[in-house]
Amino acid sequence: KISLFWFRRDLRLEDNTGLYYAYSQEKNVLPLFIFDREILDKLDDKKDARVEFIHSQILKLGESLKEFGSSILVKYGKPIEIYRELLGEYDIQNVYTNRDYEPYAKERDQAIKDLLKEKGIQFLDFKDQVIFEKEEIVNGSGEFYKVFTPYSKVWLEKFSKASIQLLNLDPKKNNFYQTSPLPVPALEEMGFEKSDIQIPPLEIDKPLIQKYDSQRNFPGIKGTSRLGIHLRFGTISVRKLALEASKLNDTFLNELIWREFYMMILHHNPQVTDQAFKPKYDHIPWRTDEGDFEKWCEGMTGYPIVDAGMRELNATGFMHNRVRMIVASFLTKHLLIDWRWGEAYFAKKLLDFELSSNNGGWQWAAGTGTDAQPYFRVFNPESQTEKFDKDLRYIKKWVPEFGKPDYPKPMVDHKFARERAIETYKTALNT
Ligand code: FAD
Repeated sequence: KISLFWFRRDLRLEDNTGLYYAYSQEKNVLPLFIFDREILDKLDDKKDARVEFIHSQILKLGESLKEFGSSILVKYGKPIEIYRELLGEYDIQNVYTNRDYEPYAKERDQAIKDLLKEKGIQFLDFKDQVIFEKEEIVNGSGEFYKVFTPYSKVWLEKFSKASIQLLNLDPKKNNFYQTSPLPVPALEEMGFEKSDIQIPPLEIDKPLIQKYDSQRNFPGIKGTSRLGIHLRFGTISVRKLALEASKLNDTFLNELIWREFYMMILHHNPQVTDQAFKPKYDHIPWRTDEGDFEKWCEGMTGYPIVDAGMRELNATGFMHNRVRMIVASFLTKHLLIDWRWGEAYFAKKLLDFELSSNNGGWQWAAGTGTDAQPYFRVFNPESQTEKFDKDLRYIKKWVPEFGKPDYPKPMVDHKFARERAIETYKTALNT
């Protein structure tokens, strides 16, 4: 008999909760990864750097498991079908995994849990991708928080009391299933190719985190960690990072709380993936101007800070947080284009794409989300530039033709756009 540990967005051996428990409680643990066609078939860019990143991490996991005389079983297909096959191929004791809070993942896991239950196999899932999940941070009446600040206060209190232990595998007790290396399908066999995009390195840069407060808002310097993709795919343990952060910098820790806040919001409000968190805001008559949207996507709006951001995103799969806020505000307020269009574009391009944070960030910018900010606050791209890219370092890097005749004129006048946005929101919210 074997037990499976199913890797999903936790691609590491170190401090991996579900893996730790599988390894501590079972004999013959066989790690499993499924390249999920329900997800992969929807990606139209076959050079998707995230798929390549996952693939390279699976190869690395296979190498590390060799030291335990084991390997990783890698499948390509639809998870429920793969599980039906596995039930025929192996005599399975239990299945271990870490929880995922996205609507698709919850549905998928429930279906698999039901399938396994019919065969008397347990599906054991663990909290791993967050410090606090689901109903762990609630208000006095047991309800989830809709606003960040009180949530973060309770989060911090609880965190300071929790004695977090990192869970590492005991190499003396080898409970992995012993097998020679198992094959891993090549990227090409799954219809993907290598991309030209570089993945930010996996490192906790302590000096950078110490200076985070004073540097994080300036896109022209490397003032943020670029750990997003590693948190997304679990190549870093959030517990390890949060413990480090709590010794180094409160503002950085606060950003990790934002990440958990949005995951909690998505868990309790799965409808936000296509609806405004504040339902009234779905009355806004968005402009469906594909030409304008295209200019935004390509970084050809004539607003240099917006264009720099979009070009950085298109070239590297990353965009600085300050600029994410500016370009998202520009799309939703200046162009009055539906936040869902922008959200979908980011989802395709961001290496660190995280459904909950992306949705939260977009709804924040559009004013439709959890934030209590009034809708008439419209970012002014010029004053944002003045504050955060005064020496134009960032703009010059990404928009080299800025100031020359071939750079486009602003596609919309700021004052006009601001008034149009306020008027449109006001009318929609009063209906
Ligand atoms: P750092 O500043 O070094 O922060 C460390 C980590 O904290 C990040 O990697 C991230 O996991 C978390 N974090 C930081 N800021 C936030 C935040 N505001 N909300 C939630 N988590 C945060 N973040 C994503 O991880 N994925 C997304 O798809 C995403 N989309 C966004 C879309 C918009 C419109 C906006 C305004 C923000 C979005 N963010 C998203 C949040 C933030 O911009 C990124 O997390 C951050 O820029 C990633 O860079 P970093 O890893 O250097 O972050």
